[in-house]
Amino acid sequence: MRITRKSTILSAAGAALLLGLTACGPAGSAGPGGVDEPDEGGETATGNGPYSLEIAENPEFEEGTTMAELAEAGTIRVGTKFDQPLFGLQGPDGVPVGFDVAIAALVAAELGIAFEDIEWTEAQSAVRESFLESDQVDIVVATYTINDARKERIDFAGPYFVAGQDIIVAAGNPEGITGPEDLEGLPVCSAEGSTPAATISEEYGAELLAAGAYSDCLDPLRNGQVVAVTTDNVILSGFVDQNPGEFELLGETFTEEPYGIGLPKGDDAFRTFINDVLEEAFEDGTWARLYEETAGTVLEVPEPPSVDRY
Ligand code: GLU
Repeated sequence: MRITRKSTILSAAGAALLLGLTACGPAGSAGPGGVDEPDEGGETATGNGPYSLEIAENPEFEEGTTMAELAEAGTIRVGTKFDQPLFGLQGPDGVPVGFDVAIAALVAAELGIAFEDIEWTEAQSAVRESFLESDQVDIVVATYTINDARKERIDFAGPYFVAGQDIIVAAGNPEGITGPEDLEGLPVCSAEGSTPAATISEEYGAELLAAGAYSDCLDPLRNGQVVAVTTDNVILSGFVDQNPGEFELLGETFTEEPYGIGLPKGDDAFRTFINDVLEEAFEDGTWARLYEETAGTVLEVPEPPSVDRY
């Protein structure tokens, strides 16, 4: 397993903000459960990591396609989050776990690539497009909302999940915040380059404290530097779950955040392949099983969304 931890390029404001903040919360307590289910043949496939995915044996792809290249290389470079419980959280061994990680492992498995052969790179919110544009990763699976602005630079397969923006406050909700409208003019933390950061500052007039990662927002909320942290409900739920008694989720989403798998712009054959993999997993129950074993340990298992083959 290869792990790359890339430093994030922050704006001057973002970098200044992060000085003095502790880097991350505790890593790695939310494992996927290491479920060892037998596959259809009654055996557990070998080398398939924690998600019991059957690895395609010598899959055939048209020459010159990204699929053929990756299958031939026997590895895939995946950008994901390293600090988000339930979706992408780096464990004590350095390997991330969570639903995004499982979805990436599913794509890899269909390319004939075992979990152990995936190269994981931390992709914080602000660097996801540039990592794909500069060929630092092959795909990004990182609570990554599909939107038109991002589609000008990269393409998306999916969606494979639909989240919504929500808010956490300190336990007891000392400011009495009931929704985003109450945050006008107040200090609120979110991740630089994310859709929730833009929404809360541009649409609701909050004073944005832009962090590199959401885990960097927790101490400012604890010490009163901000009155709220905002991002997708499922990310916030992971923080609430990991820090019992500290934070409260308002529980009212006010945006729709369809999660896609980011890939280099214009690679239509690769996008079609990933969409096919997702649709098959929606239909045969693999998607639901992967969710149950990861985010579903805390959250309800939803219905799968419909793939958008734009
Ligand atoms: N889904 C949102 C986004 O892609 C927020 C989560 C994140 O920053 O990863 O911007």
